[in-house]
Amino acid sequence: MKFYNTLTRKKEEFVPIEEGKVKMYVCGPTVYNFIHIGNARPMIVFDTARRYMEYKGYEVNFVSNFTDVDDKIIKKAIEEGVSAEEISQRYIAECKKDMADMNVKPATTHPLATQEIDGMIDMISTLIDKGFAYEVNGTVYFRTRRFDEYGKLSHKNLDDLRSGNRSLLVSGEDQKEDPLDFVLWKPKKEGEPFWVSPWGEGRPGWHIECSVMSKKYLGEEIDIHAGGEDLIFPHHENEIAQSECCNGKIFARYWLHNGFLNIDNRKMSKSLGNFFTVREIGEKYDLQVLRFFMLSAHYRSPLNFSAEIMESSKNALERILTAVETLTHLSETAASGMTAEEEKACEEMKQFRAKFEEAMDDDLNTADAVSAVFELVKFANTNASADSSKEFVETLKKEISELCDILGIITEKKADSLEAEVEALIAERQAARKAKDFAKADEIRDKLLAMGIQLKDTREGVQWKRI
Ligand code: AMP
Ligand code: ZN
Repeated sequence: MKFYNTLTRKKEEFVPIEEGKVKMYVCGPTVYNFIHIGNARPMIVFDTARRYMEYKGYEVNFVSNFTDVDDKIIKKAIEEGVSAEEISQRYIAECKKDMADMNVKPATTHPLATQEIDGMIDMISTLIDKGFAYEVNGTVYFRTRRFDEYGKLSHKNLDDLRSGNRSLLVSGEDQKEDPLDFVLWKPKKEGEPFWVSPWGEGRPGWHIECSVMSKKYLGEEIDIHAGGEDLIFPHHENEIAQSECCNGKIFARYWLHNGFLNIDNRKMSKSLGNFFTVREIGEKYDLQVLRFFMLSAHYRSPLNFSAEIMESSKNALERILTAVETLTHLSETAASGMTAEEEKACEEMKQFRAKFEEAMDDDLNTADAVSAVFELVKFANTNASADSSKEFVETLKKEISELCDILGIITEKKADSLEAEVEALIAERQAARKAKDFAKADEIRDKLLAMGIQLKDTREGVQWKRI
């Protein structure tokens, strides 16, 4: 299995530190709003990486944080007149709901920055003791030039960075020894959350969080560190500097970065305002469609989002689900006993899994892996019929389902949970009608319509169908 390592700019064979085990850290979102579908890209692709490694037999310790203290969270809390904690707790819960709907497995641990402040104070103290950090007026800075290897991940040269950063000197940061130095701890401002530290009351910088949480839950040396490509510099570069100077060890062996999700060829981001939340997309589509759309491209390529692409992803996914549904129906009536010809076809079928694995082994080429699934679906559609044996039909179905499962795609239509939700809403609408609250009844009907469910009032009661 090969991964493209941002550190070496090469595809490298993956060799874990400890045989059979993977220690993996993925930088998680800052929780001040619903996550947008750009944030969903690293969640989906690295969850798929995890699922594939688990399929290959690795035990994956997967850690992904929530940044729950940050300027944006504080700003939102002030706007709403509530505490920063209330904001972060609310959006962590919403984010977890979105993750579940995208079939992203919960991490082994989801640490919260605010719960790890002691570890951050320890690491900052060690960095000061070792001469890698210094305090000025309650702010602690990392002494960037003291780390010889600074720039190794982003392949940036310190002197180029220095000239690019000259403007910082005139923007109120003149207390730094060097414009390249970055903040590890900052003093509190009025009304902000704060913690007591040897440098006064304040809060940690963003980069130190991940160095500390990664160390606590995975150890000083980890296998894979991942996130979106915007994190390469400065976030991941700074994490390397902090961790390697503190621990005296290589921090992470493989650095994986996903490309951007774009709209009109511009990065989807909250600051540009050109984003869709996962929740909005979930109102129109089963979020499996979003997952499928993300996996139809290579994770390192830029990916453009559009309504048309979502429609074609929906149709493509539907082809797979329909094939599985057909096989389920065939199996219900099929007779037992695999024929010699079917046995031969089962052998032939193995080529698709081989293609799938080859694609995934090549730096998680999910685009080619999805193509292999489609070839398998086509093979199933042409080879299975009402005359096929139960065993043959079941083998085909199992093969499609297993490969889809590695991609986090559920092939059995989620009838149960959808049905339960629809039935509950219909009951609520009936109650509203009985109470002559027609506005509410209409509102529920519209909500169902937005979920793709159409109601029909008949003499036998309310019937519904998918549209
Ligand atoms: P943030 O909350 O901005 O720190 O982002 C959380 C994660 O989402 C990080 O790994 C980002 O790199 C990633 N991310 C943010 N926007 C996009 C985007 N448009 N495309 C892909 N990844 C993104
Ligand atoms: Zn991070």
